[in-house]
Amino acid sequence: MFRLSQYMRELLDPTPLNPSRKPPAPVVIWNLIRRCNLTCKHCYTTSTDIDFPNELTTPQIYTVMDDLKAFKVPVLILSGGEPLLHPDIFAISRRAKDMGFYVALSTNGTKISEANIDQIAALDYQYIGVSLDGIKDTHDQFRRVKGSFDQALRGIHLCLDKGIKVGLRFTLTQDNAHDFPALLQLMDDKHIDKFYLSHLNYGGRGNKNRKDDAHFAMTRDAMDLLFDTCYDWLKAGKDREFVTGNNDADAVYFLHWVERRFPDKVQHIKAKLEQWGGNASGVNVANIDNLGNVHPDTFWWHYDLGNVKDRPFSKIWQDTSDPLLAGLKQQPRPLEGRCGTCDYQKICNGNTRVRAAQTTGNVWAEDPGCYLTDTEITCAG
Ligand code: SF4
Repeated sequence: MFRLSQYMRELLDPTPLNPSRKPPAPVVIWNLIRRCNLTCKHCYTTSTDIDFPNELTTPQIYTVMDDLKAFKVPVLILSGGEPLLHPDIFAISRRAKDMGFYVALSTNGTKISEANIDQIAALDYQYIGVSLDGIKDTHDQFRRVKGSFDQALRGIHLCLDKGIKVGLRFTLTQDNAHDFPALLQLMDDKHIDKFYLSHLNYGGRGNKNRKDDAHFAMTRDAMDLLFDTCYDWLKAGKDREFVTGNNDADAVYFLHWVERRFPDKVQHIKAKLEQWGGNASGVNVANIDNLGNVHPDTFWWHYDLGNVKDRPFSKIWQDTSDPLLAGLKQQPRPLEGRCGTCDYQKICNGNTRVRAAQTTGNVWAEDPGCYLTDTEITCAG
């Protein structure tokens, strides 16, 4: 995850390069339930509106939570399916909050209503991310449920009225890129705190729709707009958060944007980006699915590192007898192809390995989702 606004702030108000602190344990994205009332085209969990068997029970979830806390996991992102369809979501959230986790909820927004908004507000989630795939019809077509945009927007309004920090989560594809400017406008109009732009990844249903992936030129246009918007708003005193996901080459592309706009700041930003270190799957990001299987991130659902019903997460996560986990944790990673020779490995860390694996069968091959030219991955000096 590339925290664009954090580095954009460094342009206006540079901070010293302090020694980096390694997080004690990963952020855990936890798909508590696979059931969902929507069936989105790009869903990595291929969810639908049925109960899935063998999901973790609530007592099992609590046992895992205790282990995560003892392992010093700082952040839980509760996801699904649709997490608000979990019958115990509020009890689970309450417990997580009381244990001192930073707790975020990742939802499609349609299940936030007048009936439960007080309960949601009382839980004091640090952040609620609502997925939007475009404006109105574009969104409804992606979500395959008419009216889902209006329902999600109603959920957003209810949260904003209660002062809850809300973010829009947008997965960019060729079919919705035209709505990207309008979504940024929506964010501005409604004073929404955060924008998360996710690149389409190759996993789950997204894999079957690979031909729908955004063309590189379109991705670059979208990034240019995101960078310009983030900078202009920051200059105008609108301190919003902009984050991108599933393509760590964004950080390198941003460095080139800085090179063009603020050549005197390039070395500072480069040092900061290198300190961040790029892709963190299997290191600072982990995923637990609805059945309790542990994965290096949410797009590795076809690859289990172990199951929390059999072994604690803390043991699974440190067991580098698994070759994928060992390779992801290796520094530098054993990258090949243009990722192997890229001058910006320290910033990008080889990007999204699942894309390489699914297109070539080789986890360490170059990431086919890298939209940078050969010149842009070669350092001038
Ligand atoms: S070539 Fe690979 S390591 Fe370099 S920016 Fe592209 S994806 Fe990242």
